[in-house]
Amino acid sequence: MGGTFDPVHHGHLVAASEVQSRFGLDEVIFVPTGQPWQKSDRVVTKAEDRYLMTVIATASNPVFSVSRVDIDRGGQTYTVDTLRDLRAEYPDDELHFITGADALEQILTWRNAEELFDLAHFIGVTRPGYHLNDHHLPSGKVSLVEVTAMAISSTGCRERVEHGEPVWYLVPDGVVRYIDKRGLYRDAPD
Ligand code: ATP
Ligand code: MG
Repeated sequence: MGGTFDPVHHGHLVAASEVQSRFGLDEVIFVPTGQPWQKSDRVVTKAEDRYLMTVIATASNPVFSVSRVDIDRGGQTYTVDTLRDLRAEYPDDELHFITGADALEQILTWRNAEELFDLAHFIGVTRPGYHLNDHHLPSGKVSLVEVTAMAISSTGCRERVEHGEPVWYLVPDGVVRYIDKRGLYRDAPD
């Protein structure tokens, strides 16, 4: 599951858990982006902070892990590179890429879109405010899954912190503490 995770929240975690169970996946690997190319118009929190929050949020789940491939590659992150790197790291495994309805809508605009579907099976999950469908995508390459509706976004969490509002129960407790400890999102420039 790729994402900016700025910060990781319970919408990400519920989606990952549901898909893991539904598809019997051995592991869900969260892959925080380096600099996301779609978000070049806003300042994204330092990769190390987003990575650590993702580790904190997933540490207690034995089938969740976090990969540094996108962070360590540097530069802008393209999912095709993520999947090529993971394919090289796990040559004998079947890869699935979990994505929310909003991201699935955009997928054909991603770099090397045709190649993506050869590298992994895509799993689109429902997300409040977006319509989940795969009409625009190659048949047999995408599965759609309904997950418990969590109307949470990282943008909403950042805005809440900026306005001094609580994010308790929207993100894991350790992530609330980490945001506070590092003073993240307090004076967002945008
Ligand atoms: P931002 O508001 O900064 O874009 P976000 O909440 O959309 O943050 P991302 O890191 O952009 O989080 O999302 C990573 C992946 O998780 C994407 O595929 C996205 O569609 C999915 N996702 C995020 N939030 C939810 C949610 N509440 N329910 C289902 N899927 C989600
Ligand atoms: Mg997003």
